[in-house]
Amino acid sequence: MPFFFDHRTFREASYLNGFSGNSIERWSEGRDEASLAEALAAENAGFHLFAEDRAIVKFGGERIAAFFRADEARELGLDPDSLILLGIAPEGPRFAGLVAADTVLPEGIRATDLRSLAVEGALAAADLAALAHARSYLHWHSTNRFCGRCGGPLAPLRGGVSRKCQACGTEHFPRVDPVVIMLAIDGERCLLGRQPRFAPGMYSALAGFLEPGEAIEEAVRREVKEEAGIRIGRVAYYSSQAWPFPSSLMIGCHAEAISTEVERDAAELEDCRWFEREEVLLMLAGVHPDGILVPPNMAIAHQLIAAFAEWKEA
Ligand SMILES: [Zn+2]
Repeated sequence: MPFFFDHRTFREASYLNGFSGNSIERWSEGRDEASLAEALAAENAGFHLFAEDRAIVKFGGERIAAFFRADEARELGLDPDSLILLGIAPEGPRFAGLVAADTVLPEGIRATDLRSLAVEGALAAADLAALAHARSYLHWHSTNRFCGRCGGPLAPLRGGVSRKCQACGTEHFPRVDPVVIMLAIDGERCLLGRQPRFAPGMYSALAGFLEPGEAIEEAVRREVKEEAGIRIGRVAYYSSQAWPFPSSLMIGCHAEAISTEVERDAAELEDCRWFEREEVLLMLAGVHPDGILVPPNMAIAHQLIAAFAEWKEA
C-alpha cells in the first residue's frame, strides 16, 4: 500500500467537528429538470426550513426534529419558489426551503441559529450536518439573483445544483470559501489569540481566508506572520470543517513555529501569546483558575488544540 495512507484511518479527525456526518446523497450528476417535482411527490419527502438564516426546529419529547413533512411545511408557510432539492437521505428525499421571516411559529417550534444548535449538541450529527447543507444552499440561492457576467436574471437548475443565466446562458455554481485555521506550536506550547468579538476569556487558534493563488501551506504561513509575527516552518493538515456561515470550509493545520517573539496585529487581535500544554489542558477541561477557555468541542479550533494538548508519544 502506498506510504501516504499509512497513518490514516477511516475514522478521520474531521468527524469530530460539528456539521460533519451528513447522510444526504446529493445526487448532483444524475438528476434533471424533472427531479425536483418527482422527489416532491414522494410520500416520505422531508423539508429543512429556514426563516432567513435561522433553522426552524421542533422541540418535543427527548429529540429535536430538524425536518418537517410536506403538510407541516405548508402549514408553516413554506415559500414554494425557494425550494431546493438537497438530495436523498436514507428516510427519503430532502429539501431546503424558506418561510417568511415574520412567520408566527406554533408552540414547540422555534427558529434557532445553527451555531447555538451545534454548541448545545442536542441534534443528531447527521441532522445538524443536513441543516448546514441546507443553510449554505439557501443562502447562496437567495444572494445570487443576477449573472455576474451580463447582469441577467438567474434561475435554479436541476433542483438547485446550480443557477443559469436566462440572458447569456452562463451556469453559476455555489461557491465555498476556504479558510485556514492553524495552531502554531513551539515544542510544549502553542499560540492562541483573542479577537475582541470572542466571548469573555476565550482564546482560539488563528484563522484567515485563503487568498486567490495561494496553497494551503502558504496561507498558513502568511496568516501567522501577519497576525502574530511568527515564522512557520512545516505545516501538517489535520482536519476540515464545513462552516455554514454562510459557506466556508475551515482547513485545520498544525504549524511548526520557527521564531518565538510575538508581534501582535492589534487591529485583529486584542491578545496573542504562547500557552504551555499544562495550561491548555486546564482550559480544555474548563477548570482554568482565571476562567480562560477554548472554543466548544463542535469547533475545529477545539479539536486542533485538543490534539496538541492531549498528544502522547506512541
Ligand atoms: Zn448572463
